Amino acid sequence: MIKLGQNQDDLADEIKALSGINFSACFHCRTCTNACPFLEGMDYAPNKIIRLIQFGQEETALKSSTIWVCVGCNTCSSCCPMAIDIPAIMDGLRHKAIEKGIKIAEPDILSFHTEVLNTVKKYGRTHKLEIMMRYKLKKLDLLSDMGMGLNMLKKRKLDLTPSKVKDKKAIEKIFKDR
Ligand code: SF4
Ligand code: SF4
Repeated sequence: MIKLGQNQDDLADEIKALSGINFSACFHCRTCTNACPFLEGMDYAPNKIIRLIQFGQEETALKSSTIWVCVGCNTCSSCCPMAIDIPAIMDGLRHKAIEKGIKIAEPDILSFHTEVLNTVKKYGRTHKLEIMMRYKLKKLDLLSDMGMGLNMLKKRKLDLTPSKVKDKKAIEKIFKDR
């Protein structure tokens, strides 16, 4: 049961402004939730996150693990009958959680996101091997996924050297404008 919080209109308006998405049309059909491949790792289903915002339950939404577990794959939005961009809403909530200094429910995922962005900043593209190495180093856990890493290398799913974009200035501009 989700209870009404205070200032529900304010929160909904703020998330609409942050994400650029009007989710008032959501009628909670749960199509997004049924389609989400990461539902098992979430504490609140994707449509419940929208419900929490609509009901002004800011703290619960911002402290949820769902907003960090969502990988932005767009599976949900591609089958939403109202074409609601749920990943953009999750993104807006993540921004707000960081801005407000909320304790991140999934700190490892934030660290992973940071490493992904670091390689994009450096090369203009992601470099999976470097992301994994840096992430594992930070966690002081180099061995737990070694078998999978070696398998991926064997199957050529990981490049040893990064692929780089030519126009580095354009990448620098994107990060400067953020
Ligand atoms: S699929 Fe769309 S309309 Fe249905 S619950 Fe999800 S966001 Fe709401
Ligand atoms: S974008 Fe997020 S909420 Fe939507 S299906 Fe993918 S993981 Fe689930």
